[in-house]
Amino acid sequence: MEKRKKIICPKCGSEMNHHADKVVHSTTAEEAKRVNLAFGGLLEELHACPACGAVASRPAD
Ligand SMILES: [Zn+2]
Repeated sequence: MEKRKKIICPKCGSEMNHHADKVVHSTTAEEAKRVNLAFGGLLEELHACPACGAVASRPAD
């Protein structure tokens, strides 16, 4: 089911690994529209770079 493109590390260009999800409580009206009621906030994917250790996140589906 995971068909989304990998995030490319902004520091070194390696493919980053999806390693966790986190809930972010909405702070804007735009984000509030996407709030996942089951979590009470916006779900984000956290990604980590295996090469240099950088971290990044993006909204989860
Ligand atoms: Zn990196």
